[in-house]
Amino acid sequence: MTVSELPLIAIDGPSGVGKSTTARRVASRLGWQYLDTGAMYRAVALAVHRAGLELGDRPALERLLAGLALAQEGTHIFLGGEDVSEAIRSLEVTRRVTPVSADARVREVLVEQQRHVGATGRWVVDGRDIGTVVFPGACCKVFLTASPEARARRRFLELQAKGAVVAFEEVLEDLRRRDEADTTRAVAPLRKADGAVELDSSDLTLDEVVDRIVGAHLAHA
Ligand code: C5P
Repeated sequence: MTVSELPLIAIDGPSGVGKSTTARRVASRLGWQYLDTGAMYRAVALAVHRAGLELGDRPALERLLAGLALAQEGTHIFLGGEDVSEAIRSLEVTRRVTPVSADARVREVLVEQQRHVGATGRWVVDGRDIGTVVFPGACCKVFLTASPEARARRRFLELQAKGAVVAFEEVLEDLRRRDEADTTRAVAPLRKADGAVELDSSDLTLDEVVDRIVGAHLAHA
């Protein structure tokens, strides 16, 4: 690690690629902390929804952002002290988070909070813009990919295991729609950061992905 590099592992990639599970495992292997930035965007989408707020109402959005009290403890995320870990995973929030995460002002506020957290120690951080925008100085940057079919297959099996009745085509279509939104938005679109290690996990197990990231980190440290 050179002096200018931060003790942070940035993991970016598209929806459904398994970033959070991977990032959590990498963090636990290294004894580092884990920050789930997607959960932060989801919590803001939940707050916006609960307030019945239109994103076009800028003064109301500013007030909401000024009073935003987000906290993460382990796998739990809190909004104003309330544990919203489950609420942020609802289909409703998943649908609403795309326009919220494309809002430049929302991103500005959350990026500032993420940098504040990241400055406090050793973190594994996952998201869409961590290596490109939030922590371009991270000591290890990973761009995790998998084919849309491989991601949809994993998501489909997960949903089936939970007893959900859903068609594979529907899951695949939803992933493609989110990929399109994430890669084409004007602010902080998803792309591989300079210097990032690209890892295609389509044919790798979770353990293999974790091994490779930890290996890449240690090789560089
Ligand atoms: O990773 P997850 O699916 O929970 O992220 C929720 C949403 O937040 C995604 O739709 C993504 O567009 C957005 N997001 C983002 N930037 C991040 C993390 C997530 O725009 N750093």
